[in-house]
Amino acid sequence: MTSLPTSATRVVALLGTPVSHSLSPVFQNAALRAAGLDAVYVALRCDAAVFPGLLRGIARAGGAGNVTVPHKEAAVLATDRHTAAVERTGACNTFWLEGGEVWGDNTDVAGFAGAARALLGREPRGARVLLVGAGGAARAVLCALADAGADQVVVLNRTPERAAALARAFGGGGPRLAVAGSAAELAGERFDLAVNATALGLRPDDPHPLPPDGGPELGAALDLVYAPDETAWVRAARERGVPAADGLEMLLRQGAAAFERWWGIPAPLDAMRAALPPRGRHA
Ligand code: NAP
Repeated sequence: MTSLPTSATRVVALLGTPVSHSLSPVFQNAALRAAGLDAVYVALRCDAAVFPGLLRGIARAGGAGNVTVPHKEAAVLATDRHTAAVERTGACNTFWLEGGEVWGDNTDVAGFAGAARALLGREPRGARVLLVGAGGAARAVLCALADAGADQVVVLNRTPERAAALARAFGGGGPRLAVAGSAAELAGERFDLAVNATALGLRPDDPHPLPPDGGPELGAALDLVYAPDETAWVRAARERGVPAADGLEMLLRQGAAAFERWWGIPAPLDAMRAALPPRGRHA
């Protein structure tokens, strides 16, 4: 949209708490402009009480949107129909109206798949992966790794019971799953890829999700957390010669997958990427 909104302009909204830090409005509005669509993307902070009504109201009014913390699970209940990614992860981050019903998808699965492919230069087919974390993002990672045909995933989490529950929930049909009690236990082992799906790295004084020394040997490191100047874990991996990337590429690619759900056309990924603040300068 190049001019001011009119009565024909459609509203696409990010729903969550907090949302003021989000980069989604930056690259989604760039995508709308590049595609010449008469729509605007806004971020709406909302609590659990208003969230379901807001999601359904926006969709029913011809809009669409994204969902972020803490409402991704509640969004499953707030939507009528779901993609397989929602059924498998129990989380929904994208909604739209189709055939009179409110649909939900979890594009974190496609976002991770795209980011892993970009980092590795190939699909992680046959890969041995160390997944650190066992929350909602880890479920999306496991789905994408299963779809890509990863050979084995070892889950390591601060609360081992959650890692075991995740492995149980995803056991059967996908990669071989195992649970590790500590990084030290994996010393000397080799993984093609390690993924940080914990919250560690959001704060500058956080410890690394994996210790730089005395742990496993890594072929590549993909952090789901992103930071203005990348994350300390990504920088430490690169210093050791390990190819690494933070979560910005996943964020961009989950947004591109959402755009394609809403509009049914390919996302203008280059325009979306160009809209991101230069690394090292955004807050
Ligand atoms: P979640 O469901 O709340 O899970 C949080 C995970 O982090 C759990 O495994 C938790 O371990 C672990 N954790 C939290 N604090 C920790 C600490 N101090 N030490 C060790 N482990 C800790 O959150 P989520 O939705 O999975 O999100 C996880 C991360 O992924 C977040 O940083 C989020 O920003 C990021 N993310 C990025 C994207 C993207 O597009 N780049 C998309 C989705 C999520 P316990 O089980 O022991 O509590």
